[in-house]
Amino acid sequence: MNDARAENHLLHLLSLPGSSGQERQVADAITTRLLEAGCDPDWIMEDDAHTRIPGDFEMGNLIVKLPGTIEGPRLMFSGHMDTVPLVRGAVPKKEGRRIVPEGNTALGADNRTACAAILTLAEQLLTEGLPHPPMTLLFTVGEEIGLWGAKEVRPENLGYPDMGFNIDSGNPTEAIIGAIGAHRWKVGITGVSAHAGVHPDHGVSAALIASKGIADYAGQGYFGLIEKDGKRGTSNVGTLQGGEATNQVTDQMSVTGESRSHDPDFLQEITDAIETAFQTAAASVTNHKGVAGTTSFLRNEDYHAFRISEDEAVVHATAQALKDLGLPCSPQVTDGGLDANFLNFKGIPTVTLGAGQHNPHTVDEYADLDEYLTCCRVLLRIVANTVA
Ligand SMILES: [Zn+2]
Repeated sequence: MNDARAENHLLHLLSLPGSSGQERQVADAITTRLLEAGCDPDWIMEDDAHTRIPGDFEMGNLIVKLPGTIEGPRLMFSGHMDTVPLVRGAVPKKEGRRIVPEGNTALGADNRTACAAILTLAEQLLTEGLPHPPMTLLFTVGEEIGLWGAKEVRPENLGYPDMGFNIDSGNPTEAIIGAIGAHRWKVGITGVSAHAGVHPDHGVSAALIASKGIADYAGQGYFGLIEKDGKRGTSNVGTLQGGEATNQVTDQMSVTGESRSHDPDFLQEITDAIETAFQTAAASVTNHKGVAGTTSFLRNEDYHAFRISEDEAVVHATAQALKDLGLPCSPQVTDGGLDANFLNFKGIPTVTLGAGQHNPHTVDEYADLDEYLTCCRVLLRIVANTVA
C-alpha cells in the first residue's frame, strides 16, 4: 500500500468544506481521484435520495459499483461525506502522527477518514489490478442530521450487497456490531379555554393533562433510565410548549420527547406507555359539562436498533482480516445512531469500523494517522481474503 498517497487523500478531503446538504465538493473530489485511478465513469452514479430528504440538499448519495474480477459475495464499504457545523472553516495540519485543526474548529475526521480510506482501497485495487469480488462503495449524505442518506438509499442501487463495512469510528480493532434504536415523539394536547377566574370549571387545562401524563408514565417507571425485567431503555421530555396568559385556562400544549432502547420490542413498549399515559390523562380532565381533553400522538422511528450475531459472515470477515494483521477484534455495541442502523434494517449485515477519528464534534477533534493507515490495510485484507 502507498502510505504517502493514502495520507495525501486524507489531507485533501479534510481540507474541503461539506456540511450536511453541501457534500458536492467532497463527492467531486472522490470521483475525480477514482477516475484518475482508472474507474469507469459508468460504474459511478448519484442516487435521488436528496429528493426524499427534507431541506436543501445539493445531491444524493455517491455510489460506485466495481464489477468483480472474480466471483464472490458483493462487499460494500460505506462512509458519510458530511461534517457537523463546528467543522466549518477547518484547516487541517499535521502534528506528529496526528492531523489536527489549525484554528478553533473541529476537524472533520468524522468522517473524512472513512471517505479517504475507501478511496485508498479502491485506488489500490484499480491501479494494481488486484483481484476482487463485486464491490459497492457508498458515500452517504446528511448522516449528521439524521442518517438521511442511509435512510433513503435504495438497496437495488447498491446491487444488494452480501455484507457491509461501514467506517465511522476511531479504533479499527473495535467492530461495532450493535447500536441503539430511537423514537422521537410529539404529543399535541387540546383542552378547552375559559376565563381562569370567572369560569375555571368551564375549562379543560391542557397543562394539567400534560403534567398528569408525564407523572403517570414516570410513576410506572418509563421516565429517564428505564429498567424492567432485564430490559433497558431511556426516555426524555425535550420541550413543553403552550399557554398564552395566566388568566386563561390553557387549551393547547405540545410536548416533545424521545425514547431509546437496544431492544426494538422494548422501545415500542416504552413509547406505547407514554402515548397511553397522555390519552388516559386527557380523558381524566373534564369541565363542568363532562367534556374531556384530547391528544394526538406522532412517533417517528429515528433509527432502528440492530445487533449482528458474532456468527455472521461479516463479523468473521472483519475478525479474520484483523487477525491476519496481528490485531485483536473487540466487538462493541453503541448507544448512538449510525448509517449502519439503516443499512442493517435494509437487509445488508453491516459492521462499523474505525479509521482513526477521535473527539468528533469538538474543537479537540483529531485524526490518528496510524489508525487510519491500519484501517486502510484492514479493508484491503478483507477484500484479499475473499479471493484466496
Ligand atoms: Zn460520523
